[in-house]
Amino acid sequence: MAKLQNRNKLIFRVAVALPVYRLFDYLAPEHVEQPNIKPGIRLEVPFGKAKKIAFLVECVQHSDIDIGKLKRVERILDETPLVSTKDLALLHWASRYYHHPLGEVFSAAFPVALRQGKSAVIQTEKRYALTEAGKAIDSELLKRTPKQKSVLEKFRAHQNSLSEAELSAWNPNWRSAVKQLLDRQLLQLAESESGINCAEPIIRNNALQCNPQQQAAITAVCDSLGQFGVFLLEGVTGSGKTEVYMQIIRAVLERGQQVLVLLPEITLTPQLEDRFRQRFTVNIAISHSKLTDRQRACAWLTMQRGECSILLGTRSALFTPLKNPGLIILDEEHDASFKQQEGFRFSARDVAVVRGKLLGIPVLLGSATPALESLHNADNKRYRLLHLPERAGNATAPVLQLLDIRNKRMQEGLSEALIAEMRRTLAKNEQVLLFLNRRGFAPTLICHGCGWVARCRRCDANLVIHYDEGILRCHHCGQEQRLVKQCPSCKTGELTPLGLGTERVEKVLAELFADKTIVRLDRDSTQRKGSLENYLQQINQGTVDIILGTQMLAKGHHFPNVTLVAILDVDSGLFSIDFHAPEKLAQMIVQVSGRAGRAEKPGRVIMQTRQPEHPLLTTLINQGYNSFARTALAERKAASLPPFGYQALLRVQALDAEMPKIFLHAVVDLAREHAKGHTEILGPVAAPMARRAGLYRYQLLFQSSKRPELHALLDELMPKIEKLKQAKKVRWSLDVDPVDLY
Ligand code: ADP
Ligand code: ZN
Ligand code: ZN
Repeated sequence: MAKLQNRNKLIFRVAVALPVYRLFDYLAPEHVEQPNIKPGIRLEVPFGKAKKIAFLVECVQHSDIDIGKLKRVERILDETPLVSTKDLALLHWASRYYHHPLGEVFSAAFPVALRQGKSAVIQTEKRYALTEAGKAIDSELLKRTPKQKSVLEKFRAHQNSLSEAELSAWNPNWRSAVKQLLDRQLLQLAESESGINCAEPIIRNNALQCNPQQQAAITAVCDSLGQFGVFLLEGVTGSGKTEVYMQIIRAVLERGQQVLVLLPEITLTPQLEDRFRQRFTVNIAISHSKLTDRQRACAWLTMQRGECSILLGTRSALFTPLKNPGLIILDEEHDASFKQQEGFRFSARDVAVVRGKLLGIPVLLGSATPALESLHNADNKRYRLLHLPERAGNATAPVLQLLDIRNKRMQEGLSEALIAEMRRTLAKNEQVLLFLNRRGFAPTLICHGCGWVARCRRCDANLVIHYDEGILRCHHCGQEQRLVKQCPSCKTGELTPLGLGTERVEKVLAELFADKTIVRLDRDSTQRKGSLENYLQQINQGTVDIILGTQMLAKGHHFPNVTLVAILDVDSGLFSIDFHAPEKLAQMIVQVSGRAGRAEKPGRVIMQTRQPEHPLLTTLINQGYNSFARTALAERKAASLPPFGYQALLRVQALDAEMPKIFLHAVVDLAREHAKGHTEILGPVAAPMARRAGLYRYQLLFQSSKRPELHALLDELMPKIEKLKQAKKVRWSLDVDPVDLY
């Protein structure tokens, strides 16, 4: 076939955010010369009948497509790329490693506003600061206007100015109170932040005196600043990891460099942000999914330009460009939320390590319960292990205890022994925390007469009872229906709730502890913006006696007055078919336990179980997380499971019940042509939840003891899968290093 070539024509090869592997060629705009154009810039291109934002991958001289048929780039959006060459290399690596289309990988690295083609200018927001009068006034004088009082106290806690975005993240209803405080001249408009801090020292003088283990960790990382290295800080809950982070961050800031801090949960950002603001005078940017597109673009751009020194963010903040990168920290590195579970399924931890290597900076991973993979990497000397074996200050480790509830009388999940223990704790004016990882009233509604069960019509799942709202809801697809009063099947039987949810426990607590204040923290009770922050504030002010919640409670929170923690139903985690389940359960138990006794008063942890001899529980209690992890790693090794083997999971779903299977059989045929000796192809099998949101789901697992072999196979396979004729009739996605098999 004759290829038309035109020596004078410059062609832009671009990536478009679409789930296809190929790149697209366009004619460069008129009057554009190659030397001025760098890969990574955003472009606007005609695409089908629409226009799309694209990213320049390379400039080339010829195309496989007839040059007469190429369309022309419409607009160049950036004069220079917004991401550095090293970060571009990172995106290319991620696209290759996760076998994910480059355009979508690029897209994930940019905030939504920039992805949509908005110009890269920072839309400045107003900032407010206390006036002298505002600094001096006794906040008790504002007690009749509690909103104003709490705003004033927020400013005091920050000792700094606050932007509109920061105020909104804290409490969306801040405007009227701020206006009143402006009128009363207790607040004023502040200068934009970028100018103020240059002259000030980096920190306020409130660093703690570190213990020797903390000091050793700080020294190890500080000695490695300016070069790549991965450190795994394994520190028991309350061991002062955050203090270690802050002292290392200080050293990085003193070198004039920036720090990226990634956290698993949005709910943890305000608390860490407060601690950072109390310590550092530098500008701090925040990025997580509850912020507006504009706010996130602003955080991204201020880091890119070097106007902020610290970025606190969740997984998606990982790709934020840094003008002067110095350090990446991942707190609670074991947490599953660091793995993106849809679209571009990357592990923020693994990509952070590669980014650190490309940028030549240290990466610090912290956890009380490191992922088995990370411990394995420490064993192999790929990561350097730093240890904080004891709680910092005067706090002591909590005492864990199993409570055998076999044949015991229970009141909605609470045994009498536990209730008595709660009463003793409350009598001392200490707080109790109850953990139950299931929201709603009860997970099942069953007919006592005929056995009918309320099922989701679109999923292989039961509907969960939400009494407060009077509905039945599917926790997998969100479908809701009115709570039925009569059995739809036999019309006469009594409908009975089966099992426990937080709503149900809350009701019995209100009866048993009528004179106590109880808060329930789960996704339902904290849906309103700002409500979680309010609850957390109440807990820390000591106006709450009993805290009941889901995994939202497990992570990172520091509740100094909680001395009793109870895990109501530890058994439900013991019987999962996923090999990751024991690891997750052990991490959850240790993390929840870590909320007990974090200050002067010692803490206790009670786990209600019908499996008091279960080896996972007894190892954890008698020997601790690390012993558990050693046993679990040995089991994984024996079974050649990760981290001793490598996996990729191909998930497929379709409206048609047969199509996913047919598609996967075609994939298996293709894969057999390319698979080498160490790679197994397991399946196709129905997914553990075989139907979800109306779609039938199947999966195929690739497993190999040799990572390069697995990836070589995927390299061959993925572009071919895309072209299979069945591929158009299903939705499929590849998950490299899956963290769950659902
Ligand atoms: P982690 O992040 O490991 O759970 P934190 O950093 O939150 O632990 O520390 C727990 C508590 O111990 C905090 O109240 C912190 O101020 C305190 N703390 C940390 N280091 C020290 C220290 N060296 N001396 C006294 N208290 C400390
Ligand atoms: Zn459903
Ligand atoms: Zn019935």
